[in-house]
Amino acid sequence: MKLIRFGEPGNESPGLQLDDGRLVDTSSVVNDYDEEFFASGGLGKLQDWLSANAENAEQVSADHRIGSPIARPSKMICIGLNFSDHAAETGAETPKEPVIFSKATSALNGPFDNIVIPKGSEQTDWEVELAVVISKHASYVSESEAENYIAGYVLHNDVSERSFQIDRGGQWTKGKSADTFAPMGPFMATKDEIPNSDNLGMWLTVNGEKMQDGNTSNLIFNVPHVVSYLSHFMSLLPGDVISTGTPAGVGMGMSPERYLKPGDIVELGIDGLGSSKQNVVAYGS
Ligand code: ZN
Repeated sequence: MKLIRFGEPGNESPGLQLDDGRLVDTSSVVNDYDEEFFASGGLGKLQDWLSANAENAEQVSADHRIGSPIARPSKMICIGLNFSDHAAETGAETPKEPVIFSKATSALNGPFDNIVIPKGSEQTDWEVELAVVISKHASYVSESEAENYIAGYVLHNDVSERSFQIDRGGQWTKGKSADTFAPMGPFMATKDEIPNSDNLGMWLTVNGEKMQDGNTSNLIFNVPHVVSYLSHFMSLLPGDVISTGTPAGVGMGMSPERYLKPGDIVELGIDGLGSSKQNVVAYGS
């Protein structure tokens, strides 16, 4: 299944994108795609409903805004420098253990919403990433069991302000957490739709120019590894998001460096997870 949410920011309703492309409303079946939904077996309930009602389901009109496909989670944890080509372009060494940082959940944004350049920013950058959504409480999970704790996958642009992240010192969270810095979606694909998370092409363009062109086969620490790894430092809760890192081709890796400015258009996609598109605007515009 492909889970979507539609409606105004902060007031989205749950839905599904069907295989024939129709978007249907599921708010009569479930409240939202949140912690309670995943924890209470909501995916199974939704599948049962879909099997019986796909033909007659109420359609979502095309003029609705599409929001993040999952409600604001308890946390978003990101993996840094998880592609060796990206580590090299940033001048960092390939990490021996996953580099982790958190991204404020208030950064969550719809896949076609604007990216707002924060106040005082001169180095807003892009990062196409595969994000994982957790299905159930995960603590001290082994790598071989990790798959059992995954609800699905979603396309994520881990938007980053490099000066806030690096020049300003301290933790990367500062450069990763501005409002609109986490465009998620267009949909969350349940894990049955992505049989092999280790071989997904991923790309990103700015104004139509290809910037990133990678594949999850080049992840240093793959999905089962990072789910297991994180679960040894914290409990992962149903609906939590783990963003697994970006390949080479970000603006800070270019010579000269290149950053987003108002009017730019960012598009990105991952095999099986659709594509998203964000217009870049100035703060307060
Ligand atoms: Zn990232």
